[in-house]
Amino acid sequence: MESNKNKELQLLGKLKVLGEIEVKTGLRIAGPTTGIKIGGIDQPVIYDAFGKPYIPGSSLKGKLRSLIEKKEGVELNKKDSAHECNEGEKYKSCPVCKIWGIWASENIKDVHQLTRLYVSDVPLDEKSITEEMKRNMELEYTEIKMETAIDRYKGTALGGSLRTIDRVPAGAIFKDMEMIYNVFEEEDKEIFVKIFEAMELLEDDYLGGMGSRGYGKVLFKNIKIYWNKKEAYESGKLMETIINDSFSTPREIVENFESIKEKIK
Ligand SMILES: [Zn+2]
Repeated sequence: MESNKNKELQLLGKLKVLGEIEVKTGLRIAGPTTGIKIGGIDQPVIYDAFGKPYIPGSSLKGKLRSLIEKKEGVELNKKDSAHECNEGEKYKSCPVCKIWGIWASENIKDVHQLTRLYVSDVPLDEKSITEEMKRNMELEYTEIKMETAIDRYKGTALGGSLRTIDRVPAGAIFKDMEMIYNVFEEEDKEIFVKIFEAMELLEDDYLGGMGSRGYGKVLFKNIKIYWNKKEAYESGKLMETIINDSFSTPREIVENFESIKEKIK
């Protein structure tokens, strides 16, 4: 068999995934705690430069990765029970590392390591915060909850430790979610489905913090997938057709992936 070593990987095209993330139960992605209480909150969510909550692309990408790692049964060889291939032979057949990328790339010398997936920060759609929702909210875009700090090891409440927690309320929508998936080889088209499997898993898990208290349930909606092959960039004919027809949820996309995949050519 020909060695992969000298085979140059060349971009065949890019898949673009757009969509929305609907918050089903209060979402809390922690922001930096500066020591200064803003609006009386001990623990704010993360805000963008315009003072609006957002979902960092790195948080979303990281959560999807950790869920698919457990589902694929890959070796959890890094601290925090995470996975990363440390041999070229393993990497070549590992969809997780190919899609989500690897850090310690110096361990792998004989294969190309090109991350397939890039995830952008997802802004809050202000319009999704209705007047009715605002009546129950303490701040412009978030609600404040009082939570007792729990000793993680003993499972008991820490003495006198009621904290004010900031969270984005149920009903909020973040859009536009934008993911870019680079296709370098035919096999990348097959493993593309893993992203939607990870989204399905996330819908039955949680995003952000305090999932054990019921925070962070989300749904992915109105997903649109576009295929821009390399030649489209030369002709300027980009994003002309949606390739996932009316299949707009992760579950529908996974279920109908064979017909979607046929359009990636
Ligand atoms: Zn791997």
